[in-house]
Amino acid sequence: RAKDLGRNAFQLYTPAMNARSFERLAMESALRHALARNEFTLVYQGKVNLVNGQMSGVEALARWRHPEMGMVSPVEFIPLAENMGLISEIGAWALKAACRQCKSWHELGLPKVRIAVNVSTLQFRESDIPSLVTEALAESGLEPHYLELEITESVLMARVDDVSQVLRDLRAMGVHVSIDDFGTGYSSLSYLKKIPIDALKIDRSFVADIEDGTGDGAEIVSTIIDLAHNLKLRAIAEGVETAEQADFLRSKGCDEIQGYLVSRPVSGEDLISLFDRDLLPGA
Ligand code: C2E
Ligand code: MG
Ligand code: MG
Ligand code: MG
Repeated sequence: RAKDLGRNAFQLYTPAMNARSFERLAMESALRHALARNEFTLVYQGKVNLVNGQMSGVEALARWRHPEMGMVSPVEFIPLAENMGLISEIGAWALKAACRQCKSWHELGLPKVRIAVNVSTLQFRESDIPSLVTEALAESGLEPHYLELEITESVLMARVDDVSQVLRDLRAMGVHVSIDDFGTGYSSLSYLKKIPIDALKIDRSFVADIEDGTGDGAEIVSTIIDLAHNLKLRAIAEGVETAEQADFLRSKGCDEIQGYLVSRPVSGEDLISLFDRDLLPGA
C-alpha cells in the first residue's frame, strides 16, 4: 500500500516537474551554444532629454533568438546565464557589440549619442571591468565618454573600497556609470556620496505608480529626483508610457526619460529614424 501511495504521489507530481525541468535543461544546453551560434542580438531604446526633446542616449538591451524557442527575454536568460557561469562572456559580447554599433552611428554622421550597456552584478564581480572596457573601446574606436555602464544597487553591496576603485578607474577613463532600477535595492545612501557615478535611473515600478501625481509613486519619484540633484547626479525615469507621466516628471525637474511613450527597443537600423527628431511632440 505504501508503494501504491508512493506511486500515486509520483504520478501526481512528476509529469509537470519533468516538463519544467526538461524545458530548463533544453534551455540550458541551448544557452551554452548561443554565443557561438550567433543567436544573441542587441536592440536599442532611446533616452530623451525632457527639456529639448532630443535623444540624449541609447540603452542596449540583449535579445536571444533561439531557432525553435523564438525570442527569449533577458529576464529569463540573464539569471540562467549567471547560474551557469556564462554571464561574463555574454556581457563582454554585449559590451563590444554595443560599442561597435554606437561608433557606426557616429560614423554615419548622426548626432552623437552615448550608449548605455547593462552590467550584471555577478559579471561586475567576476571580471576585470576596466580592462574589458579598455578592450571594447580600443576595438571599436569609440571615445570613452560615449560609453555608460548601468549597474544595479546590488553591486554596491560588496566592499565599498573595491567597488569604488573600479568606478574610479572607469571615471578616470571618461566612462560614465549609472545606477539602474534605483529604489528597488538596498544600497545605503551614504555609499552614493562616496562612489563616482553620474545618474540614477528611477525604477519603472515607481514611474508606473505616478498616476495623476497623487499616488505614492509620485512622492517616491520626486524624492529620488531631488536626491539625484542634491548629489549632483542626473535623474532618468525608465518605463515612461504616458504623456501624464512625462509631464509630471518634467514638472519635477527629471532630466531624461526612457520608455514606450518615446519608443520601444528597436534594431540598430531602425533607431536611425529616431535621431534628430522631436521625440516629445506636444508633450
Ligand atoms: P533594464 O536594464 O532595467 O531595462 C529596462 C527594461 O524595461 C527593458 O526590458 C525594456 O525593454 C523595458 N522597458 C522599456 N520601456 C518600457 C516601458 O515603457 N514599459 C515597460 N513595461 N517596460 C519598458 P528588457 O529588454 O526585457 O530587459 C530586462 C532586463 O534584462 C534589463 O532591465 C536588464 O536588467 C537585463 N538586461 C538586458 N540586456 C542585458 C545585457 O546585455 N546584460 C545584462 N547583464 N543584463 C541585461
Ligand atoms: Mg538598464
Ligand atoms: Mg532599469
Ligand atoms: Mg528595470
